[in-house]
Amino acid sequence: MLETEISQIIQRNLDTVQDEIAHACRVGGRSLGDVRLVAVTKYAQPEWLQALSMFHSVFAENRPQQLADRQAMYPDAQWHLIGQLQRNKVRLALQHTTLIHSVDSVRLLKRIASVATELRIRPRILLQINVSGEATKSGFAPAEILGAWPEIAASSKSLQIDGLMTMAPAEDDPQRARPHFRELRELKEKLLTHDGVKDSGPALPELSMGMSGDFAVAIEEGATLVRIGSRLFAGL
Ligand SMILES: *Cc1c(COP(=O)(O)O)cnc(C)c1O
Repeated sequence: MLETEISQIIQRNLDTVQDEIAHACRVGGRSLGDVRLVAVTKYAQPEWLQALSMFHSVFAENRPQQLADRQAMYPDAQWHLIGQLQRNKVRLALQHTTLIHSVDSVRLLKRIASVATELRIRPRILLQINVSGEATKSGFAPAEILGAWPEIAASSKSLQIDGLMTMAPAEDDPQRARPHFRELRELKEKLLTHDGVKDSGPALPELSMGMSGDFAVAIEEGATLVRIGSRLFAGL
């Protein structure tokens, strides 16, 4: 496929997705400036990323090595990590990312805090919550997060806990994702009113939820970051 053709397809997909984001904001009474599109490039070929980079500059990868390689190629873009992070890849990830969405255990959080201290940086992270309870998904169980908060808060001197992230189960009907997104928003509200959390400071501004199939519903339920991959590259 010709470069110009790739570029046209991606531009059209991006326009459509942005229109749908704007529409969902109107439906949900959200302001457009509060919702950001994170373009998931994990399956994108280098030419697609090249084309997309002309129009967009917030990207996400699920593997630290590909994140590092691509961040080095597009250092002016923001690169987020959305996939499971192994402890031995924390240093690599921290050197190349502006936001880790997928912090799924206290153990990982502590590792990130200790490497960040060494690197003299204060990275931004989100806590991944397994709202649906599916065994195949990682993340904190909603019921365990309050109990884990003292340990979570202890790490927050070395990193910035910016909010929560979740993945809804894959469904044909996006409405079925709604209760999971709502639960994440309610969990955030509950955390913010809980004394032990309030006192430890984080405002948890971000809710990372919604993918290609269900981002409109996620926005209606309060998403501030939508992670969209396949819709941007459809037709390529
Ligand atoms: C791949 C991925 C996405 C994007 O999924 P699409 O359905 O392609 O939009 C979003 N979030 C996570 C965690 C992913 O791994």
